[in-house]
Amino acid sequence: MALTKKELAAFEKQLSDWKAELEDGQSENVHNMHGQETSAFPDLADQASAETDLSFDIRIKSRELKLIYKIGETLHRLREGDFGICDGCHGDISLKRLQARPVTTLCIDCKTEQEQAEKTRID
Ligand SMILES: [Zn+2]
Repeated sequence: MALTKKELAAFEKQLSDWKAELEDGQSENVHNMHGQETSAFPDLADQASAETDLSFDIRIKSRELKLIYKIGETLHRLREGDFGICDGCHGDISLKRLQARPVTTLCIDCKTEQEQAEKTRID
């Protein structure tokens, strides 16, 4: 892998800080939500389908939850020495790309390919 120890340490710090920040936001918002709305939704699946003003917030929340999970996975990869390696072709993901999107698991080529495949499916 092309990344130096110093670069890896910087990514680890960035990801840990990011995760902590998101987790803070999660508990804050859950708290606010309970204040506004008494009919609490029992789980995230129900929350996502609820058509209320809250649903937008909740969609963001559940996206953030996924991101927190993804950051956790990325930190794990980092510790295992798999960070920066593309899941698609097992090549190195460029440092530039990792800096822009540290949780990515695909190099730009594989990502482009995946996006095109998804687009084809939607059309
Ligand atoms: Zn790739």
